[in-house]
Amino acid sequence: MARLEIYQFPMRGDNYGVLLHDAETGATAAIDAPDADELLAALRKTGWTLNDILITHHHFDHTAGIEAVKRKTGCTVTGPASEAGLIRGLDVEVKEGETVEVGGAKGTVIETPGHTRGHVSYFFPDDGAAFVGDTMFSVGCGKLLEGDAPTMWSSLSKLAALPPETSVYCGHEYTNANCRFALTIEPENEALRARATEVATNAKNGVPSLPTTIGQELATNPFLRAASPAIQKQLGMEGRPHEEIFGEVRRRKDAF
Ligand code: ZN
Ligand code: FE
Repeated sequence: MARLEIYQFPMRGDNYGVLLHDAETGATAAIDAPDADELLAALRKTGWTLNDILITHHHFDHTAGIEAVKRKTGCTVTGPASEAGLIRGLDVEVKEGETVEVGGAKGTVIETPGHTRGHVSYFFPDDGAAFVGDTMFSVGCGKLLEGDAPTMWSSLSKLAALPPETSVYCGHEYTNANCRFALTIEPENEALRARATEVATNAKNGVPSLPTTIGQELATNPFLRAASPAIQKQLGMEGRPHEEIFGEVRRRKDAF
């Protein structure tokens, strides 16, 4: 049964902050801490008291606020064991398959390396919500800064296998630019074209494109669609292994 209220808010320009709140117990967790002042302001606005921060990866734009927020709230900081040395203020180290709790809500840790070596995502099955940091974006994916294409392909495949109705909360609002690139990879994809139009309009009006859903990403995100005959043909890679096709799409995005 769903328990969590989820509050998403922009931070640092194109990052998102997210608060998870279990009304029954009053427990509250933040996904990442891009900026202390903005996170504390969101807590004042919601009236929620922070217990935990769940960190996805060590990058500065996801961790810069940890220490100041910890001093103010006394919260516990949980994050990937394999990046423990890189995250200041980390209290609890988690690995694949372990459980995190926000009051009575339970989340599963999914290791999703590729953008960074130890990146993790958090999936709350009963609430139908996944928090994927910089692994998957809407119509995009994170840059391969500390991993290769097969590693990232396997991480994205884990997320793609979640129930299609799962709400996906990503670390950044990059969707509008992602759509412009995706249309060069799969110009005839009707679902992608519709998404691009919707997102361009929303971007003009300051409306977030997130959360997205796994189902919507499966239909529109070129980084999940290596099996698409249209993409394979467009790239001249018919019948090639999916991780290679993914790698080529990633290379083209880096050069776009
Ligand atoms: Zn990052
Ligand atoms: Fe980031």
